[in-house]
Amino acid sequence: MEGGEKEMAAAVDISNLVKVFGTKKAVNGLYLKVNEGEIFGLIGPNGAGKTTTLRIIATLLKPTSGNVKVFGYDVVSDPGNVRKLISYLPEESGAYNNLSGLEYLRFMASFYARNREEIESFVEEGAKISGLKERLNDKIKTYSKGMKRRLLVARTLMTRPKLAILDEPTSGLDVFYAHYVRDEIKEYARNYGVTVLLSSHNMLEVQYLCSRVALINNGVIVEEGSPEELFRKYDSKNLEEVFIKVSRYG
Ligand code: ATP
Repeated sequence: MEGGEKEMAAAVDISNLVKVFGTKKAVNGLYLKVNEGEIFGLIGPNGAGKTTTLRIIATLLKPTSGNVKVFGYDVVSDPGNVRKLISYLPEESGAYNNLSGLEYLRFMASFYARNREEIESFVEEGAKISGLKERLNDKIKTYSKGMKRRLLVARTLMTRPKLAILDEPTSGLDVFYAHYVRDEIKEYARNYGVTVLLSSHNMLEVQYLCSRVALINNGVIVEEGSPEELFRKYDSKNLEEVFIKVSRYG
């Protein structure tokens, strides 16, 4: 690195994050760093604090205390700049039911595109990712749960954000489409420089996709590393074994 050059900011840099709901500490002093270009997986039992953390990074929820930066921009003092760089796939979402899939993609693309051509190229890309073909002309309210999910995944990736935050990206998808979405996520990370932070309950998925993984429990990170490092450390053959060992005894 050149002498005067600034050190590149991490894609996500969280220190001592706390989020309290009433009397419940959903996040309780969490530290996390995601580097640019990584596919990073957050895993953990139900209620561990994954969605809360992801929503804070996505500027949808304010932290109670602590610091959260996305490519150097603070999510509390500079949410506008954060939003320009990210897209967020919620765990569940009431989509725009009266729009057709195509209208929805076009509507979402219009927030990100700089001109008409770019809108069309985002929509084309979204249509391809969704794999919904002629069903894209139908209203979203006629879609199955999995089809809605496919549309949302497409919307999240089509604009090639610098950071894609994906809360359980393949939940509710059939085996074929889940496989397809994983490959799309890999391709976007590799070819378009999209950094990905995802949560999942599917350990095979995380093993397949992620270069690093953090295990969250009771609102803190209790273990972190590449899947291979964790297999070695816990004398395990797969992430499921690691997960069970760490969650039970860690
Ligand atoms: P899951 O794997 O079940 O999706 P998670 O790891 O995503 O779980 P969170 O949704 O972040 O967990 O929830 C963390 C804790 O915070 C839980 O105890 C949850 O009940 C609580 N919580 C989350 N959102 C709220 C809210 N809006 N009001 C009150 N408590 C909340």
